[in-house]
Amino acid sequence: MAKIKITNMLKFYTLCLLAEGPKHGYELIKELGRNLGRSISASNVYPFLEVLKKNRMIAIDKVGKRDKKIYHLTAEGRNFTRDMFSKFGDLIDVAIKPRIATCPCGCKIYSGGHSERIKGRLMKFCCSHCARMHKAKI
Ligand SMILES: [Zn+2]
Repeated sequence: MAKIKITNMLKFYTLCLLAEGPKHGYELIKELGRNLGRSISASNVYPFLEVLKKNRMIAIDKVGKRDKKIYHLTAEGRNFTRDMFSKFGDLIDVAIKPRIATCPCGCKIYSGGHSERIKGRLMKFCCSHCARMHKAKI
């Protein structure tokens, strides 16, 4: 496995963009700028592309008269980004889990839902129907 550390959002987004499909260098720079909300220069992006290339995570195609470079993920690069996405997915789960309530029916309540005070305790349900069912059982 390649020893690449994703230490900032620029690296993270670079890999996200490459995971979408092959990209020109200037496309990467433009889209990174849009994603990060600041202006990105070639010198922000190319050192990381070099690292990816050295680790055989990306390959470069040259196309057109002016030999424009197109970067794309290799099989190894795709494996790496898949791992990265699943790790970030776990982190996001950890971050949002404490804020998710579970209805007695088993539904996860991400937002909204129905709150009711039952026997002095404020309880959260996915809907008023579940609240009624719960009250009928106790
Ligand atoms: Zn429910």
